[in-house]
Amino acid sequence: MPAEQLEFKAELKELLRLITHSLYSDREIFLRELISNASDAINKVKFDSLQNEEKLEGNKDWKIKITPDETAGTLTISDNGVGMSREQVVDLLGTVAKSGTKAFLAAAKGKPEQPGLIGQFGVGFYSAFMVADKVTVVTRPAGSPSDGVKWESDGQGTFAVEPAEKANRGTDVILHLKNDAKDFLKTYRLSGLVRKFSDFIEHPVVMDEETEKDGTKTVTEEVLNNRKAIWLRQPREVTDEEYAEFYKTVSHDMEAPLKALHFAIEGNNEFKALVFLPAKKPFSFDWEEPKAGLKLYVQRVLIMDRCEELLPLYLRFVKGVVDAADLPLNVSREILQQTKQLANIKKMVVKNVLDGLAGVRNTKPDEYARFFADFGPVLKEGIGRDFENREKIADLCLFASANTEAGKTTTLNEYVGKMPEGQGSIYFLVGESAEQLRNSPYLEAFKAKGFDVLLCTDPIDEFALSGLGEFKGKKLEQADRAETKPDTGEVPDDVKVAFEPLLGAIKHLLTDVSDVRLTTRLTSSAAVLVADAGAMTAHMQRLMQRWGEDASGPKRVLELNPNNPAVQAVKVVYEKNAADPRVEVYARLLLDQAVVAEGSKVTDPAAFARRVSELITADASR
Ligand code: ADP
Ligand code: MG
Repeated sequence: MPAEQLEFKAELKELLRLITHSLYSDREIFLRELISNASDAINKVKFDSLQNEEKLEGNKDWKIKITPDETAGTLTISDNGVGMSREQVVDLLGTVAKSGTKAFLAAAKGKPEQPGLIGQFGVGFYSAFMVADKVTVVTRPAGSPSDGVKWESDGQGTFAVEPAEKANRGTDVILHLKNDAKDFLKTYRLSGLVRKFSDFIEHPVVMDEETEKDGTKTVTEEVLNNRKAIWLRQPREVTDEEYAEFYKTVSHDMEAPLKALHFAIEGNNEFKALVFLPAKKPFSFDWEEPKAGLKLYVQRVLIMDRCEELLPLYLRFVKGVVDAADLPLNVSREILQQTKQLANIKKMVVKNVLDGLAGVRNTKPDEYARFFADFGPVLKEGIGRDFENREKIADLCLFASANTEAGKTTTLNEYVGKMPEGQGSIYFLVGESAEQLRNSPYLEAFKAKGFDVLLCTDPIDEFALSGLGEFKGKKLEQADRAETKPDTGEVPDDVKVAFEPLLGAIKHLLTDVSDVRLTTRLTSSAAVLVADAGAMTAHMQRLMQRWGEDASGPKRVLELNPNNPAVQAVKVVYEKNAADPRVEVYARLLLDQAVVAEGSKVTDPAAFARRVSELITADASR
């Protein structure tokens, strides 16, 4: 059969163009990507052979071999893994663009200096074209000796496939190195890179070494990597640098982790785990489908690359490895997912992660704050989803508050610890920005009593905190609800009586509020809108509007401060002449300023502007 010429999928063409023309720094990471693919391929055949022994073809000498050829100018990375059939090679290396391709293109356009990102997006193979102007892949599937195939491309838009002879199962990736990449033929350079990037790859990465003794040359295979399954070692024997390097291999993150959590459970459900908290959000985090998972090994055999049963979704930023001793090796993935042991392991992992986070929060508050800024919204999902751990998770959250300095935060525990005598609940106010909330009229009564109020600006806060309901036995209450008010006393009866006619008139004029009342909630502002039981708060209304939902809901209550000079002035005008048209104008203005002060939009901004202008004109001509 002659070679068939096929086109790369459009996104891949674009990716290849970017790789060949724009990515020049950090090119060395191609080796990490190709070794990682070789290692994955070995893990796959290892796993498949548990059910299907012929795939081994009698060879269990797992190996990844690097062969530089100075004369030919080629570098070959070979493995004895699963290999690929013709159909697979066409799909996997050419026509099926993974979801990560577009995401990588977007990320790389902003950051062309960071090609190391490529592995995060599941398109690592193509990094070969950073150093090679032609790549040849000779591969054959495990267990099918006559199905060898050769794939070849110069990365310029097409690739060729044709049948090929191959004695051993697995894949050879042959890089025809660019002139400026011949450096990668030097053995010291290659062994240095393997130690740098692939030291913890569990399979041996070997290279031939020639030694000369008494005029006779002997060639021996030298193992370049350390290969220690680092999670099986004692934590005290592992250095921070080793943890950091291993973290990079499991996460594709390029930064050191915030913390390594290395723990083991002995006895019935024996397992070892090494999981990591990232320091900040990796580039691909927001692009990826939200999926949590850890690598699952059973006695050092990789069973699943991302076992979703080991981590809840709200901890999807955690990366790492679990090695279980007692799970059966040769069960199907489906059955594995239902075993109770995984649920127990998950519980322990969650406990260790939450405790680990609390540890960082207590000992390195600044680093924790940075972590929380990136992952807080994800972690908070746990308050609603993990009933058992909700208080623990809630206490891992950081909030701005009326009493904390701008830029600083408090935790629920600290908040409760500082509650003064007479404060029964935890108060929170939700809005767009802490600066805006800090000046909110809703805070006036709380400030007067010396009560702190949490200022919540993450869209999930309102759901999370309302859902939590209480923390350490203290109710969580929203500061802009009618029923939430510290005891600031009642409006005196004579004042109530004096204002009654005006309030009745305003209620009649303003049909967009459900009631008009006097309040002791305000110390300086003239008016606020509060939500009665059942009504939506302002923030919830804004969210609903943004989502295009009907946010009309039950109307809110306009509360007026009888001690405010503006409110008193309106009363005077009304009492002089109940039919004075200015009463309506002023009433609207009181409502509008309450709306503006809470950070919402007035319903008719043009009319609002006109009323303010009229007011200025009248005042100026006095
Ligand atoms: P990823 O490794 O994240 O899946 P890559 O671009 O590195 O993305 O590789 C694409 C796919 O090509 C792999 O998922 C695998 O199926 C296949 N592949 C690449 N290299 C090999 C190999 N050495 N042996 C078998 N399959 C391979
Ligand atoms: Mg890969």
